Amino acid sequence: MSRISIGMASCGLAAGAGKRLELLARREDFKDKVIVSRAGCLGACFEEPLIDVRTAEGMHYLYCRADSSNHWPVIHTALKGTANRGVKLSLREKEPGLLTGFADLIPESFASQALHDFFQHQKRHVLEHCGLIDPFSLPEYTATGGYFALAKALLTLRPEEVIGTISASGLRGRGGGGFPTGRKWEIAAESRDPHRILIANGDEGDPSAYMDRTLMESDPHRVLEGMLLAAYATGAREAYLFIRREYPLAVETMGRAIQDAEAAGFLGKNILATPFSLNIKLVQSAGAFVCGEETAMLEAMEGRRGQPRRRPPYPAQQGYCGHPTIINNVETLANVPWIITHGAATFRETGTADSAGTKIFCLTGDIPNMGCIEVPLGIRSPAIVEQIGGASADTVKTLQIGGPSGGFVPYTDFALDYSSIEAMGAMLGSGGLVVLNQGHCLVDLSCHLIRFMADESCGRCLFCRDGLGRLEELLQAMMANHGTAELLGELEELSALVAGLSACGLGRGAVNPLLTSLRYFRSEYEAHLKGIC
Ligand code: SF4
Repeated sequence: MSRISIGMASCGLAAGAGKRLELLARREDFKDKVIVSRAGCLGACFEEPLIDVRTAEGMHYLYCRADSSNHWPVIHTALKGTANRGVKLSLREKEPGLLTGFADLIPESFASQALHDFFQHQKRHVLEHCGLIDPFSLPEYTATGGYFALAKALLTLRPEEVIGTISASGLRGRGGGGFPTGRKWEIAAESRDPHRILIANGDEGDPSAYMDRTLMESDPHRVLEGMLLAAYATGAREAYLFIRREYPLAVETMGRAIQDAEAAGFLGKNILATPFSLNIKLVQSAGAFVCGEETAMLEAMEGRRGQPRRRPPYPAQQGYCGHPTIINNVETLANVPWIITHGAATFRETGTADSAGTKIFCLTGDIPNMGCIEVPLGIRSPAIVEQIGGASADTVKTLQIGGPSGGFVPYTDFALDYSSIEAMGAMLGSGGLVVLNQGHCLVDLSCHLIRFMADESCGRCLFCRDGLGRLEELLQAMMANHGTAELLGELEELSALVAGLSACGLGRGAVNPLLTSLRYFRSEYEAHLKGIC
């Protein structure tokens, strides 16, 4: 039977995929011939709506920007088994049937060069099923090898062996901090308190970053499987997914996945007939950016105002309700099943010595090919900006890396890994990557991000609460061509105080965009002071 899948993640829905699904699902002539189903996001948000047609004969076609102009070709292909006009990309499976991952797609012909370029330089481990399977279907997840890693761990590995594998893989936290995941698990597992808790942080708040949303909307069981493995390894018997309320589709998708996993015996008591038991509860965040900071998240989950706690103790020692708590970002956890399935050594084959594996980036800004990409850590910037993103090198001025706590770096040829980005004064962060062209004013952009962070400050520390507001005033004055050369010194002095005297990462990182723009684009500040800009 042929099958039509429509990308129904947030990006697809915004582009009109819901209407396409509705029209195709009610066709009488599809009865007993064509299955119409939803899929998640393939990452190529710039080509949405995307419709994937797999014919009964085993051919696989992908229709881009599937509006009314290629509605009929989609139907023709599904019913006749051959592509009609309007096909943008044709892909062939190794064998007919359900795909086992993006790696199994073999490019046959590409009418869309942009789509070809977009995928050719990616290495999709974590996103391997996104956009190819129905996120509401547990059977589709298991048919692609889903929950194999869990079975392997529960039936053949002791918890300490799972931790050993994760430590050996070199996996580092993908939510921004980059802390070694295996070490975090070891600390919690060594605790004398047997009441351990696991929290998956899905409260993705960086503007222009939607890696976790894509995963939760497109491959929810992958996130659950990562949580199950983390809980098994660390001895956690209680788990929560702290999920952003402004992601209603992700909330719905994860909620359905939890129910389905419980019904199938992957969650609950005696999972896979072993002594291991786990329940996962969804907790919706209230949308405060600061609650992405893990101790502020704990405060919010315990029913208090979301303000960061002083550390130590660290959450892995004493976290949720005083118990040892392992907090991992959604993308970090989604790496875990892949590592357990393929092994630590295979994971380390990708990336660099200190930044193993792949990273998901959200590529946005002044580029034609915007979307969610997964690339090896250590990849060079032109491969992302020019080859995947399709930007022209001479038009790009700067990259804003790592969200509002990251930085502006000049567009040159550099490696994207933890240490290289830090050496430039920015941070890899959660994976926001905004490409900005020559027309942008760095003073204006810095002011915009300082204002965002001032609005999001929880208000506890003087320099974060009031210092960021003062920095915004100074930048506004500069943009109005007021002020003297001393103003630059005041900006730097106050930035150092905000960074040095703030209690949490929000305040400490808030001045990074300003400091990096001063470091690399100082002439723009001076031009404002001279009144020539
Ligand atoms: Fe709150 Fe800012 Fe202090 Fe963090 S640095 S605790 S966000 S006031």
